[in-house]
Amino acid sequence: MSYPNTRLRRLRYNKTLREMVEDVHLRVEDFIFPVFVCEGSNIKREVSSMPGQYQFSIDKLPDLFKQIISKGIKSILLFGVPIGKDEEGLVSCDDNGIVQNAIKFIKKEYPEILLIVDLCNCQYTTHGHCGTLVDDDVHNDKTLVNLSKQALSLVKAGADILAPSDMMDGRVLHIRQSLDKNGYEKTPIFSYSIKYASAFYGPFRDAANNSPKLGDRKSYQMNFKNSIEAIREAESDIKEGADAIIIKPALSYLDIINKIKSKFNIPIIAYNVSGEYSMVAAASEREWVDRLDITLEILMSMKRAGATAIITYHALEIADKIKNNV
Ligand SMILES: [Zn+2]
Repeated sequence: MSYPNTRLRRLRYNKTLREMVEDVHLRVEDFIFPVFVCEGSNIKREVSSMPGQYQFSIDKLPDLFKQIISKGIKSILLFGVPIGKDEEGLVSCDDNGIVQNAIKFIKKEYPEILLIVDLCNCQYTTHGHCGTLVDDDVHNDKTLVNLSKQALSLVKAGADILAPSDMMDGRVLHIRQSLDKNGYEKTPIFSYSIKYASAFYGPFRDAANNSPKLGDRKSYQMNFKNSIEAIREAESDIKEGADAIIIKPALSYLDIINKIKSKFNIPIIAYNVSGEYSMVAAASEREWVDRLDITLEILMSMKRAGATAIITYHALEIADKIKNNV
């Protein structure tokens, strides 16, 4: 059937009709807001390369959570920014560490918030790599031991969900077994199954203070010139017991989100990463783009590609626009 019988514009003239036939939806419940918590008191420190994003000390978290709750955001992704670091990142396993104390505070004050906690060593190692170094490279299996230790400490503190972001082989199984052995078989693992070595993480490193002091992360994060390797990564994490898959970055990797969506029946979480956020922030500061309009379009593209939920720094600012469907 073609023109003049078919006129696709007939569905576009009326706003209500346009809304009725929309086939991709974005809700505030889809958002996961990243939160950086640092040591000290009375600290609300803006991340210079991510204007509008802050590190908070625990005593300042109530200011942030008031906003999170009033905007209808129900889930957060928590990162710890410790002062003390060590060679292996063992400080991350301290039951009274910065992230553990933040978890206890949040679960006590805001039990309704779904608390997803990032699980990695890079914020806690002196060298800034995601695991234990042997001969200047991250040793896969030694790192697994630390990750499982850290995992137990985080769930003991009250984490609802763990999100391992290290990209070691076999870590989902290792963490799963150690959780199950200790009575945490109900705790889901949202694995960063597909994490490309990316320049889009630049601003995050300011936020989390986790730049590697030597080398790069290319021996464990994925090569962005690869496409089908993403299927193997997802497949192995699903087999090991991952409950959802995180894909990062998102905006330049919509093809990967779509590929995984069509291949596997599992929730997919897109991470709209720091570099994606900062590009929008910088361009809108210069009034080259409309900040909220372009943000909405970017987030919708992730849903269109197949994301179930989105980790995004834009969650608070875009929530009202989503709720009012404008
Ligand atoms: Zn890491």
